[in-house]
Amino acid sequence: MSTATVVGAGPNGLAAALALARAGVRVTVLEAADDIGGGTRSSEAILPGLLHDHCSAIHPMAVGSPFLRSLDLERYGLRWTWPEIDCVHPLDGGTAGVLHRSVAGTAAGLGPDGERWRHLFEGPSAAYDSLSDDILGPLLRFPRRPLRLARFGIPALAPASLLAKLFTTEEARALFGGIAAHAFHPLNRPLSAAIGLGIITAGHRYGWAVAEGGSRRITDAMAALLLDLGGRIETGTRVRSVSALPEADVTVWDVTPTALADILGDLLPGRIARAYRRFRYGPGAFKVDFAVEGGVPWTAAAARRAGTVHVGGTYEEIAAGERDIHAGRMPERPFVLVGQQYLADPSRSVGEVHPVWTYAHVPHGYTGDATAAITAQIERFAPGFRDRIIGTEVRTTPGFAEYNPNYVGGNIMTGAKDITQLLLGPRPTLQPYDVGLPGHFLCSAATPPGPGAHGMCGANAAARALRHLGHQERPVRQAAG
Ligand SMILES: Cc1cc2nc3c(=O)[nH]c(=O)nc-3n(C[C@H](O)[C@H](O)[C@H](O)COP(=O)(O)OP(=O)(O)OC[C@H]3O[C@@H](n4cnc5c(N)ncnc54)[C@H](O)[C@@H]3O)c2cc1C
Repeated sequence: MSTATVVGAGPNGLAAALALARAGVRVTVLEAADDIGGGTRSSEAILPGLLHDHCSAIHPMAVGSPFLRSLDLERYGLRWTWPEIDCVHPLDGGTAGVLHRSVAGTAAGLGPDGERWRHLFEGPSAAYDSLSDDILGPLLRFPRRPLRLARFGIPALAPASLLAKLFTTEEARALFGGIAAHAFHPLNRPLSAAIGLGIITAGHRYGWAVAEGGSRRITDAMAALLLDLGGRIETGTRVRSVSALPEADVTVWDVTPTALADILGDLLPGRIARAYRRFRYGPGAFKVDFAVEGGVPWTAAAARRAGTVHVGGTYEEIAAGERDIHAGRMPERPFVLVGQQYLADPSRSVGEVHPVWTYAHVPHGYTGDATAAITAQIERFAPGFRDRIIGTEVRTTPGFAEYNPNYVGGNIMTGAKDITQLLLGPRPTLQPYDVGLPGHFLCSAATPPGPGAHGMCGANAAARALRHLGHQERPVRQAAG
């Protein structure tokens, strides 16, 4: 029987472990933290019973992930649940851009921009399942469905600023800009629309789901399946050198390229080690979880029913903020993402006290305190919010790096998603999961298709590892449904 070690029990590490175990490989997972899950952990941080997601919260990419869907994780307790409205982007004056799961519903609310929204997203979201073969793997290869990919890919090559010009209303421009800003990248750069287009397209197909009982349920279910398949998981084990690794036929790494260069040292070919050491990290996140009596009193009524609220004002304000953080300047009014997962999953609240998840986009390694700026931004669109706060829990950018070594400088994207790193991953190659040392593979969100709790980087890296072990390479296909 072949053996494998997976380093890191984030969604990608566990996805790699599951793909290997499913193929009959005996897998051991080594995780640095005391808990599995990486960016999917959740706990009661402020009040007993009040459940907060420490990192990922909203899951259009995971609920639609071909690999996760192939696992039937519902058998292991994963249950997706959806808010009434996916995402709202409020503006001063009380209006808002509103994203519904349905393209037609979204278009109907966008007035003169509705038709444009429909034109951009109806085709790609209807074709998302077949498109995902092409967009959830290495991007530089011959596409399986070139025509469908072109419909999605040509807009994705453009800067978000160019696509924003297609819309005439402040509401549609801001809605689009807020989602594009998930890339943590200046919106006038090429390919800066790609991540946002992926999220919108997946969202229109599968919705902005949350996991009942917290995002931790995603990786709890993955771990339970892995144990059933005979895998083992050791927590509290940070791998710092190859000598600490058990003997195995293959090793799959859910770590940053820089960490891998440090751990594997001279074993890596020099040019690959140099590329990994030059890997670039983007701006950071500053997170505040709030316990809020009665929820956030948004002026825009739709925001009171939305799982996600993007707080940052107009498209121009968001674009300026993203430019600032990229240049190392903290904006006075940063872009803030607000998660109200409890609207889809009321089990997370304690009576009328609700967990409100927020983080601001800040410069890489920002050492200041963004709590007041986040609170002020929310208060701007929800007067009276401040008076309802009964507790907070803060995670700074250094706090993120301590919590998870993959979040260097608070960069929760595991690397800057600029044109080369987004297209190629950590080095110029058609095989971004191969690290140049036979039997070793990289599977973290530094590889394509990048961040998100979808596990696709892990599944793709495991396919390479299985090929190395002599198994026939199988494309990742999702279960029907
Ligand atoms: C604040 C925040 C909000 C986010 N919001 C969303 C969201 O709403 N939706 C979404 O889809 N995604 C979101 N993400 C991103 C998502 O969480 C990540 O992209 C995803 O978790 C990446 O998975 P991964 O397996 O590559 O890495 P991670 O989840 O980061 O896991 C890596 C694991 O490897 C372990 N590890 C690292 N080095 C070592 C070592 N040397 N030895 C042993 N173990 C090691 C770490 O401890 C960690 O457990 C968010 C992230 C953050 C932080």
